[in-house]
Amino acid sequence: DLPTVAIVGRPNVGKSTLFNRLVGKKLALVDDRPGVTRDRREGDVGFGGLAFRIIDTAGLEEADSESLLGRMRLQTEAAILEADVVLFVIDARVGVLPADRPFAEMVRRAGCPVILIANKAEGGAGMAGAYEAFSLGLGDPIPFSAEHGEGLGELHSALQEAL
Ligand code: GDP
Ligand code: MG
Repeated sequence: DLPTVAIVGRPNVGKSTLFNRLVGKKLALVDDRPGVTRDRREGDVGFGGLAFRIIDTAGLEEADSESLLGRMRLQTEAAILEADVVLFVIDARVGVLPADRPFAEMVRRAGCPVILIANKAEGGAGMAGAYEAFSLGLGDPIPFSAEHGEGLGELHSALQEAL
């Protein structure tokens, strides 16, 4: 069986864009409007000699009720349970928000290797946000751009080490 990598983070940080980048097909729905990506998606990834299964956790971005937040939390917990490695994604342009912390907490509790991705950092943007990410206690952030494909070399090295 392939090892499993779960992409975790609050809505709108670019999880589905990262999923699409790694799977190489438009399997995950990405949209500018919050709330579009609801279903969990999985794909097989071949990435520079590495092979793994990847899980994109859903957004439920419109979560305005306890039940939706609860569902998102459960879904994230389930993905983390299956994961050999977690990719924890933040938006480097906006920095670390309170909404990031419950997800970071779930990941920390899981105890599996975590790769911290400071996304939306293309062209050196979002360095301040990347520094803030240190405060999550999940290790050194990789400045990354899922949209532009920056940081893939560093991600590959981190995955190689973690898998
Ligand atoms: P998710 O909710 O975490 O799955 O986030 P999405 O992948 O749906 O992306 C949310 C928004 O961020 C979309 O408008 C994406 O186009 C945008 N986005 C994703 N990755 C990047 C990136 O690397 N740079 C920039 N500037 N925007 C990005
Ligand atoms: Mg999504």
